Amino acid sequence: MEKIQNIQAGWLIDGSGDAVRENMLIRMEKGTFREIRPVCASEPPLGNFLDLSDYTLLPALADAHLHLFMSGTADQEIREKQLDADFSEMKTVISDHLKQLMHCGVLAVRDGGDYAAHALRFRDECADPAEIRVCIKAAGKAWRKEGRYGRLIGRPPGKNRNLAQAIAEESQTADHVKIVNSGLNSLKHFGKETPPQFRPEDLAAGIRQAHEMGQKVMVHCNGRLPVKEAVEAGCDSVEHGFFMGKENLWRMAERQTFWVPTAITMKAYAQQLPSGSAEAGIAQRNYEHQLKQISRAKEMGVPVALGTDAGSLGVFHGRAVAEEMKILMRAGYSLPQAVQCAASQSMKLMGIPNRGRIVPDSEATFIAVKGKAENITETEKEMLLFLSGKQIYPASV
Ligand SMILES: [Zn+2]
Repeated sequence: MEKIQNIQAGWLIDGSGDAVRENMLIRMEKGTFREIRPVCASEPPLGNFLDLSDYTLLPALADAHLHLFMSGTADQEIREKQLDADFSEMKTVISDHLKQLMHCGVLAVRDGGDYAAHALRFRDECADPAEIRVCIKAAGKAWRKEGRYGRLIGRPPGKNRNLAQAIAEESQTADHVKIVNSGLNSLKHFGKETPPQFRPEDLAAGIRQAHEMGQKVMVHCNGRLPVKEAVEAGCDSVEHGFFMGKENLWRMAERQTFWVPTAITMKAYAQQLPSGSAEAGIAQRNYEHQLKQISRAKEMGVPVALGTDAGSLGVFHGRAVAEEMKILMRAGYSLPQAVQCAASQSMKLMGIPNRGRIVPDSEATFIAVKGKAENITETEKEMLLFLSGKQIYPASV
């Protein structure tokens, strides 16, 4: 029988949103947390002991919205190549992204789609758990309306077929369904909204169909009407949700619909576009507007899961998660609450309930970051990664 392993942690963020606790003892057995309690000064020395008293422990993180087929690079040549790559080239690209994610403590991802369903194929053909330690949830190709935004990530249902029929026929092997129900944010006119892509009844039927197949539905939507119709149609998460407005936040709080704000996308645009250009200025205003919406969502009790849209211009796989956590903190979340969004809330949305919290009986999958809790979002921190109680990064000693 495997022995109990004991860890002393300098600081602990357990993923529930509760305050940081200092000097904690974590006991694990068979890859599961058994007991979590303060270190007792008078107790005799424990066997099988790992001293992490100068580390902060927190649950492994998740990115609930990214695109594994694209890199965040601003190098136009690389971006174009990735949009035209066949699966054999794409395998290396995706595998590199997953390594980058793992090195940032991200052990679960929800892919929001690509035009060739490369990420879904990778999940099926290449994600050997002995090699790829990141749990991949993939949508395959997203659904969009003919002639509307979303060509790079999906396709329309096609002629003589509505959204629900298309989902029934082609989304069976996916983990979840992705529907695109608006355009992108304008970088020319601040706050310009686009109309919904699908009729409300078609959207609702599509979502019902996915739910009958046991799949959740993530809906790309910005602006008041596209978000309203997605929430009322019963979507599981609103993706982006820029300029959705207060009424939608109330609606989502009432229904407990998840929001994945991906605020980093606009911050990255503001940094990547030519400095001083009108587009960079509008991207910055979009970002600031989103910060206000996030603060409001927090006050209203909208469940927020952390997603980054990594693969978007200037948004890099892995490190974008800490960046988005800092953005949540700028909007009023405490550090433990931001971790909660990136861990337990994202895992819940992704259907991985045994990860994302450091509590008895959940899977002992966690990260240990060198230093005090308040410094963990700093980049390039020394980090240890544990999967089911075993250290997997750096290679176990
Ligand atoms: Zn996306």
